[in-house]
Amino acid sequence: MDFWREPESKRIHDPSCLHPQSNSSSCFRSMKSEKTEKCIFFPGPIIVGAGPSGLAVAACLKSKRIQSLILERSDCIASLWQVRTYDRLRLHLPKKFCQLPLMPFPSWFPTYPTKQQFIAYLDAYVTEFNIQAVFNETVVAAEYDAGIGFWRLRTASAKGKGKEEKHEYVCRWLVVATGENAEAVVPEIAGMEEFEGPIVHTSLYRSGDSYRDKRVHILPRESLTPVLNVGTLAMIKSGDIKVH
Ligand SMILES: Cc1cc2nc3c(=O)[nH]c(=O)nc-3n(C[C@H](O)[C@H](O)[C@H](O)COP(=O)(O)OP(=O)(O)OC[C@H]3O[C@@H](n4cnc5c(N)ncnc54)[C@H](O)[C@@H]3O)c2cc1C
Repeated sequence: MDFWREPESKRIHDPSCLHPQSNSSSCFRSMKSEKTEKCIFFPGPIIVGAGPSGLAVAACLKSKRIQSLILERSDCIASLWQVRTYDRLRLHLPKKFCQLPLMPFPSWFPTYPTKQQFIAYLDAYVTEFNIQAVFNETVVAAEYDAGIGFWRLRTASAKGKGKEEKHEYVCRWLVVATGENAEAVVPEIAGMEEFEGPIVHTSLYRSGDSYRDKRVHILPRESLTPVLNVGTLAMIKSGDIKVH
């Protein structure tokens, strides 16, 4: 079914994703006996990822009086929206399909809120539900230890100036909310190494300004239209950006 093609093609390229033929019980790499500097037991569920999904799970748990802990590899919530999207982005689905549980968008938001409005809404959501997150904490391995009935997660924690600490978290419940767009997938294209110009993944694209008067080739993903915003389209139409 066409409906499944997008998630399927994302999974094929996602190194963190469980492949059907794999025997692993987790979607991170399996635990090795590495030395950790700190072992942290958390009595509630641990959620990996502070994107909209992770925040929604944390809020729903909170509404049932269950305190969870989010581990997030970047230094902010909703890193996809804050760091890896273009300036003029708006939700491309009407707002009623994108709001998180238990807290609707403000009524004065437009049908297609801007990226800044969406991020402000998520900030307010975190405050409303007092969601706790540890930032700069990348989960690199997760394994269910059937012997003790707990999940054991290994993390790499960025401490600035290139310093990294390794931690182990132990919890009874694990929620993986690492997102389907969290990893940039750059396809292998024959001749890529010889190409002298910049090759930019859409997650690094901010606006058409840096492409003014340049020749640009846009490679859309199979079955998807290229992600172009209105400003860029206007520059293409006016000839400021030349698309091949
Ligand atoms: C340009 C663009 C426009 C979009 N527009 C819409 C829209 O209009 N409506 C809509 O519903 N959806 C839209 N989406 C889809 C988008 O995926 C969702 O909006 C939303 O961000 C998904 O939330 P998520 O929490 O599942 O994943 P993400 O937002 O990707 O969050 C996952 C989080 O997990 C963290 N993480 C990943 N791996 C690890 C790890 N190993 N350890 C710790 N943390 C980790 C990441 O840093 C990230 O913060 C759009 C996506 C893009 C790229």
